[in-house]
Amino acid sequence: MHLARFPRIFAAHLPTPLERLDRLSRELGGPEIWIKRDDCTGLSTGGNKTRKLEFLMAEAEAMGADMVMTQGATQSNHARQTAAFAAKLGMGCHILLEDRTGYAEHNYNDNGNVLLDTLHGGTLARYPGGHDMPGEMERAAEAERARGKKVYTIPGGGSNPTGALGYVNCAFELLAQANNGALRIDRIVHATGSSGTQAGLVVGLKALNANIPLLGFGTRAPQPKQEQMVYDLAVRTAEKLGCPGVVSREDVVADTSYVGEGYGLPREDTIEAIRMFAELEGLLLDPVYSGKGAAGLIDYCRKGRFRKGERIVFLHTGGAVGLFGYDRFLTAGDAATAVAA
Ligand SMILES: *Cc1c(COP(=O)(O)O)cnc(C)c1O
Repeated sequence: MHLARFPRIFAAHLPTPLERLDRLSRELGGPEIWIKRDDCTGLSTGGNKTRKLEFLMAEAEAMGADMVMTQGATQSNHARQTAAFAAKLGMGCHILLEDRTGYAEHNYNDNGNVLLDTLHGGTLARYPGGHDMPGEMERAAEAERARGKKVYTIPGGGSNPTGALGYVNCAFELLAQANNGALRIDRIVHATGSSGTQAGLVVGLKALNANIPLLGFGTRAPQPKQEQMVYDLAVRTAEKLGCPGVVSREDVVADTSYVGEGYGLPREDTIEAIRMFAELEGLLLDPVYSGKGAAGLIDYCRKGRFRKGERIVFLHTGGAVGLFGYDRFLTAGDAATAVAA
């Protein structure tokens, strides 16, 4: 089990801080809430994809790629961080964006992450919702290869065993931080989507025998599918890392009750969570991922599903740039319109 034998380009600001949220903890009354600041990984405002891209982009560079290609939703944070990383390495970057919300306004379609994708020199192609995006990307990559380009394709969210190594590394980093600070972590929670974050974390935690339960709050798929995706990727990641069989099915837990109408569509409790973190802690969440993860965390606290004094680490996966694409939900006094698509 040697993470160091995989090619990696060090670009993230690590270790990300681990901080206690005093005002939020007091407000919620029960557990002691901490935050692992992966919104501070540094690259183009940061976020969880930077850790995955350290391993993915190293693979791209090792195969001599002059262009990377990836795909995601219009306000994809992964697309933005990929475009930034490609810029840093002097590679081309082509991004396929899928409209998963149907929002027509300028800010959703061209501001926020989309603005930064192009600012970093990425080129964009847009597709309507429900498209076969992985297939579309493979076709686009073949077309570039026919023109002599060396293209490295990255799956949506950077979620494959190579990308998940970034979150194995995060688990190692977090446990080291906790040990150094004599902090007992009772549970880790975070938003889960394309599954690389949770898969990497669960492999890292199990490989080190940490005995810390991990809970993913879903942002897209229903629970059985989400857990299966995470588990399948965790199995493949563990094999790659050289510790096959370290993760069992029951280590993978996702609660998808806070997804709402679907991917990228915020609920009222998503917006409430964004407001609470902003007003109580000066922290920025996002409407697609971390806001839904935090809504789950808040609801669990209110329902007494965590023990009093339990130390919970909320992994902040980033995404705040997306706020500028979702301003319609956030303008003062408009919280009540959150569920109206
Ligand atoms: C991609 C993303 C996630 C989900 O991570 P996965 O590895 O795709 O499950 C969570 N939060 C933010 C802000 C993201 O951009």
